[in-house]
Amino acid sequence: MPGQCAAQAVREVLTMAPVTLAPSPITPTVDFDRDGVQHGFLRLPYSRDDSAWGSVMIPLTVVRNGSGPTALLTGANHGDEYEGAVALFDLAQTLTADRVAGRVIIVPAMNYPAFQAGTRTSPIDKGNLNRSFPGRPDGTVTQKIADYFARELLPLADLVMDIHSGGRTLDFVPFAAAHVLPDKDQEARCFAAVAAFAAPFSMRMLEIDAVGMYDTAAEELGKTFVTTELGGGGTGRAETIAIAKRGVRNVLRHAGILTGGQAAEGQSAGSQPVEASRWLDMPSGDCFRFAEDSGLIEACVDLGQPVRAGDLLARIHPIGRTGLAPAEYRAALDGILAARHFPGLVKAGDCIAVVGTVES
Ligand SMILES: [Zn+2]
Repeated sequence: MPGQCAAQAVREVLTMAPVTLAPSPITPTVDFDRDGVQHGFLRLPYSRDDSAWGSVMIPLTVVRNGSGPTALLTGANHGDEYEGAVALFDLAQTLTADRVAGRVIIVPAMNYPAFQAGTRTSPIDKGNLNRSFPGRPDGTVTQKIADYFARELLPLADLVMDIHSGGRTLDFVPFAAAHVLPDKDQEARCFAAVAAFAAPFSMRMLEIDAVGMYDTAAEELGKTFVTTELGGGGTGRAETIAIAKRGVRNVLRHAGILTGGQAAEGQSAGSQPVEASRWLDMPSGDCFRFAEDSGLIEACVDLGQPVRAGDLLARIHPIGRTGLAPAEYRAALDGILAARHFPGLVKAGDCIAVVGTVES
């Protein structure tokens, strides 16, 4: 009877085993369990017009010395953010196994196609890697990268550090950050690593929308996770690159994975003492200011400057004709200007400012 068939079908669906995902199509050219330094690739098959059986070759380095914790270090999750890529290409080239207790996995340019194009998202599929987790083994190139990190690399790691900057459209005061988490032991581990990074600022970070983020995938697996925002504007500066290089080593040393060397926390590569990190918070969505107008932005406050609730952050001038008053955007909280829109022209919907509150 049709009714029985339907009931049987429902029972079959309810008793079905959980869907098992296909294996990742990505092949590492390194052995993650071998001691020593290995420079290789994550090879992702990508058939296309100019290479029928071609691949995306994502560079990576694995440095292992015996048993011990594993750090997974990534840059250029967004392809137009450079401090992480510079710091990690440099670390990959200089780190020797005798300095390591455990394992360091270094992927300087996580969304490699986006990094090659100098764009936030991938030119292949327009994928924003940091909105693509947990990814799919049978999805687009970006989804396949996310899936490989989610199912293969994150489970290997104890400590996960993903180095971001503002990219072409945002600029930040340099900070390391972690998120408020339901597991307070994990949260404490994350903020201890943020403190160890010793950036000029340390942030309790609120995300506009955490769904699909690598951060969330790592945190849900219980990992100690640190992220950063170290500048922006689609370039890296000497100061922010030095902060990234120093911070990576500081966190590895904090985790007991990097041994030896002389540059301790709070010392720059040139042994200039670094001022103590200032802690910032993003207590609510009131931190963010989004444009409701398009036009020419007039910055009224620079990054790092103090602001009070009600202070003018920026004005947006209409550009279609002269004689029109600019729209005014004011701070909703006391704090400092922690981030700002970078290009001189804005569109409605753009994030134009972030105010971080200063923790006493
Ligand atoms: Zn980013």
